[in-house]
Amino acid sequence: MLQYLRLHGIGGIGIVRMSGDRCFDVLSKIFRPKKDEKIENVKGYTIKYGFIVENNEIVDEVLVSYFKAPKSYTTENMCEINTHGGNIVIRKILDLCLKNGANLAEPGEFTKRAFLNGRIDLLQAESVIDVINAKSEKEVKTGIKQLEGVLSKKIKNIKQEILDIMVNLDVSIDYPEYDVEEVTNNEILHMLDSIQIKLENLEKSFDNGKLIKEGIKTAIIGKPNAGKSSLLNAILKEDRAIVTEYEGTTRDTIEEFVNIEGIPLKLIDTAGIRNAKDEVEKIGIAKSKEIANDADLIIAIFDSSKELNEEDIEILNIIKNRKSIILLNKSDLNSVLDENDSRFKNITDNVLKISALNGYGLEELNCIISKMFSFDEINFDNDVIITNLRHKNLISKAIENVKKSRNTVNENMPIDIIAIYIKDILEDLGNITGEFVTDDIINEIFSKFCLGK
Ligand code: GDP
Repeated sequence: MLQYLRLHGIGGIGIVRMSGDRCFDVLSKIFRPKKDEKIENVKGYTIKYGFIVENNEIVDEVLVSYFKAPKSYTTENMCEINTHGGNIVIRKILDLCLKNGANLAEPGEFTKRAFLNGRIDLLQAESVIDVINAKSEKEVKTGIKQLEGVLSKKIKNIKQEILDIMVNLDVSIDYPEYDVEEVTNNEILHMLDSIQIKLENLEKSFDNGKLIKEGIKTAIIGKPNAGKSSLLNAILKEDRAIVTEYEGTTRDTIEEFVNIEGIPLKLIDTAGIRNAKDEVEKIGIAKSKEIANDADLIIAIFDSSKELNEEDIEILNIIKNRKSIILLNKSDLNSVLDENDSRFKNITDNVLKISALNGYGLEELNCIISKMFSFDEINFDNDVIITNLRHKNLISKAIENVKKSRNTVNENMPIDIIAIYIKDILEDLGNITGEFVTDDIINEIFSKFCLGK
């Protein structure tokens, strides 16, 4: 079998990782442990000190971790060479491994092997990427839960429920002359109802899962000079967006991730909404409206030192019936707008005076956001949350097939036809955990991994 190895970035320590039947052979050609020992006698989960050598010359002083099949990440024999960080040394050791018979790993190769070797299912493998890419603690938590197999177990239980009925259906199809326990249409309908509820609950969890994974899409809108960029900067607490005294310079949009009291927000700073004459600005306006349309939360910002004008009214119209917060900015100046003004209060109770310049009111803004999107009702330790669109789509497909199956039962179709539809549900669920997926899908999923994982 081929050997796979990879290097893990640059830092104080670099790791070259190998997996496969012959990885200890390759290692033996380049590693001189301080205390030599036959590989058969080296236990898994141990670390040895020694030197990587080439032509009797020391390349680096290293620690090597040993993992013996099947107790390793990939279930194969594995070793990790902990080197001194630094590109040149790691590259050198990598080259030595390659020269001595190893092959370079593809992105996600190690996790793919863990999946192909049956240690984890596809769903768990995908959650490895989620944990690596997580932008908030909540995302890590849902990722880890899936890695532990909580969702896999749930899917497995639903499948088992279907299989319990299928076994009897199949028997009646194959041996109609035998006196097997007959499954009544009512029993099938009862099973279908039960799994539909479970699948729909999973499907529904994606609403929160999406927010957790992608962040709450938050559009900051307001006419030019209201203070959108200043607010974005104040929230980010660093000057990433350009703040300017001239109107309409934020022509495109800026997106930033921020965690507010554990709630992940994807902030989108739009070009100012205005009745502009020039083409670029017009695009900006259209885009602002479009982004506001698409947002989970709209923060509308007004310059409280000035009376509302037509543009402001246009913005108020955009946020009608939307989840929104109204900010009366520049509260450090003489304010002419009032928080209790019915033009605001008719739209939302979340009206707040702030100063993006000196930070006044920002803490209260954080409180409002965290109250609006508190995931309190979610128990991150116990609830199963779907965060992956592929899983969500397959669950939706399974629900469709549950409905189709129910129709076939209601139409009194022959039992073998009913069985075909029910098998489709099983296939959808099997695709989530990776039992039936094609190589193309597997390759696509693992190509999203980073190298070395
Ligand atoms: P945008 O066009 O909506 O992005 O507005 P900017 O953030 O670029 O701000 C426009 C101008 O208003 C800049 O000169 C900011 O310094 C100023 N500004 C923003 N927020 C405040 C504030 O709270 N108080 C005062 N006094 N000036 C502010």
